Amino acid sequence: MRQELPLPTLEAIRAATNRVYAHAQRTPLIPASSTSAVKALRLKCDFMQPGGAFKLRGAANAVMCLSDTQKQAGVVCASTGNHGRALALVSTALNVKCTICMSELVPQNKRRAIESLGANVCIVGRSQDEAQLRVDELVASEGMTEIPPFDHADVIAGQGTLGLELLEQWPELDTVVVPLSGGGLISGVALAVKALKPSVRVVAVSPQRGAAMAASLTAGQPVEVQEEPTLADSLGGGIGLQNRYTYRLVERYVDAVVLLDEEAIAGAMRHLFFTESLVTEGAGAAGMAVLLDDALRGRAGIADDASVAVVLSGRNVDMQAFLALMNEVCDE
Ligand SMILES: *Cc1c(COP(=O)(O)O)cnc(C)c1O
Repeated sequence: MRQELPLPTLEAIRAATNRVYAHAQRTPLIPASSTSAVKALRLKCDFMQPGGAFKLRGAANAVMCLSDTQKQAGVVCASTGNHGRALALVSTALNVKCTICMSELVPQNKRRAIESLGANVCIVGRSQDEAQLRVDELVASEGMTEIPPFDHADVIAGQGTLGLELLEQWPELDTVVVPLSGGGLISGVALAVKALKPSVRVVAVSPQRGAAMAASLTAGQPVEVQEEPTLADSLGGGIGLQNRYTYRLVERYVDAVVLLDEEAIAGAMRHLFFTESLVTEGAGAAGMAVLLDDALRGRAGIADDASVAVVLSGRNVDMQAFLALMNEVCDE
């Protein structure tokens, strides 16, 4: 049987704060301006982090936890999205060599975005799997350290600082809604808030399309699902059949998982734009969808008298696509 690694703790999250805030910001928790179906609703604006997503927290903690020898050899990952950006930002700031492996099918603009943050881009093959194989090679041959996007104790502890912030900013909080993909964010947030205030309800939201963690919870073990394109593209990808931490943490701490169709995600993006004047990507807006629909709110188990924080996790969206989506509302 596979050996079970110890799970991260509140102490690990507390210890991460100095490292995280060397790079990341404490982000605002703002009251939603629209009236809502609950007693109080606040928006945790973590899309305001440098790099445009919360992922800076985990990347900062993980890179700063490395030994000098490891830092010398550099870090590597196969993420072209928000984790890749965050790792590039932190590594550049710390003068640590950073290589992001990606397939030749990754669009030019994503590649340039990573390069402009100071990372080396390594183009390899025609799939994410081939990019990951190159990561494994670089780890074996160059002694580089892979910093994965979610299933890593230091990454989870770094994301957990968002949970500490939430309770500092709003001790009365009783429900938090968090977007879920690999589960690093919600694991860290849930660990922090439940350790400090066990009565807080933690609700996950994922797109229906390719909801790997939800399918794994149903199956009772990590499983693979067919990947499908979704507006919440940062929530795509599997959880890894050899998942070490996040599957167990989500199973233990998450109270409800709500799945969203594409229209609900688009509706949340539009609501945040037209009502709150906020630009968010699909994944970043997803949590809001639960507060805009009574059936979804019911599935989340959020009562009328709840005090709810919604984590808005990212804003890296193609602006032309975003504007087209916002304009669709006028054509109806
Ligand atoms: C990565 C990401 C998530 C999901 O985080 P996990 O730790 O993989 O669950 C949510 N929103 C945005 C914007 C992201 O980049």
